[in-house]
Amino acid sequence: MRNLLDPVDPAGLQTPFWEIYAQLEAAGHLAAYAGVGGTRLISLGGSQYFSSEKVHCPNCRVTVREEQPYYSHGMLLAGVGAPEQEAVICVEPEFITPQDGHAKQDCEQQAIKRWIKRNAARFAPESVTILTDDLHCHYPLCTLPAQHHMHFILTCKESSHPALYEEVHLLEQVAGAISTQVVEKRHGQPANVGSTAGWSKSPCVAIWERSWSTGVN
Ligand SMILES: [Zn+2]
Repeated sequence: MRNLLDPVDPAGLQTPFWEIYAQLEAAGHLAAYAGVGGTRLISLGGSQYFSSEKVHCPNCRVTVREEQPYYSHGMLLAGVGAPEQEAVICVEPEFITPQDGHAKQDCEQQAIKRWIKRNAARFAPESVTILTDDLHCHYPLCTLPAQHHMHFILTCKESSHPALYEEVHLLEQVAGAISTQVVEKRHGQPANVGSTAGWSKSPCVAIWERSWSTGVN
């Protein structure tokens, strides 16, 4: 099996994902997949699907664990989801693998950049909101979706963005400078309670997840 699959270029897997997506769209199955501002929410997140301390190939990511080489393969998964929708529709993933002409190892962040640049034109301008996690919440990754006419919501933890939160805490003292929205979902007990807040005049415009906690506040 490996002899058959190893030479196959992963790029060949891209088209079927979009064909299925187009069929779901045409049949009206994605009509309810609308999130903030009526946009389609696309979540981007990395996952590791192979790792070994011994078995490896030229496309492995190589790190060091306990002074031993650690080989792994990862990919960026892209999923279309929406509140109240149980199913997530997978669209084209991006493999995290050594890139031609790049000396540095590939990583999830570079994969996100490639995914957005390659796929943004598939969607109408301003019709998509990209979701990803705190690790990628920084200026270059905020500006990339905007340059490609996509919105974004990035988790932004206080522990990793101290300077940003310093400004937020200052703004909290100014009446009307910050708006807060609390969303409460009840799926059994205790309820999951989330709080988000947004502001518009900060150096890094973002919406951040201030706290997610279990239990009713
Ligand atoms: Zn490998």
